[in-house]
Amino acid sequence: MDCCAPSYNTGVAKTECPSCGEKSKNVQLITLKSLLKASALETMEPENSYVFCSNPACSIVYFSGNHSQTFAASDLKVPVYQKNPSMDVPVCYCFDWTRERLLQTIGNDRQPADQIKAHVQEGRCGCEVNNPQGACCLGNVSAFVRGLNQG
Ligand SMILES: [Zn+2]
Repeated sequence: MDCCAPSYNTGVAKTECPSCGEKSKNVQLITLKSLLKASALETMEPENSYVFCSNPACSIVYFSGNHSQTFAASDLKVPVYQKNPSMDVPVCYCFDWTRERLLQTIGNDRQPADQIKAHVQEGRCGCEVNNPQGACCLGNVSAFVRGLNQG
């Protein structure tokens, strides 16, 4: 399935995070296989479904659908945008748009979101293996840039 198609996340069942209770979306196993460190991956249970918690206040990144297992940010090879406020953390993982790089484009004619959208339309994105949330970053990019322009 195309990770950036508008239909990608619709109809996905939501499961409550065992730590913070936020209702969260399932991610594909390929996302965990790509992004978990070996020590965490070695404990992953492929028969389980896994869910991504996007709550910035919660330390859990992934949990299994039956709540038997959780993974924290330290279990991932990459920093997690939702859990890490540093400027060098990617907002768009596929095309390496960090907060810092987005900040530098304020006032430019070519907006990052438009550049990312163009790549998405050409079929170059791979959010399911690059982005811990396992889905398109464009909503995060737009929200972050909106926040910059308001500040
Ligand atoms: Zn949580």
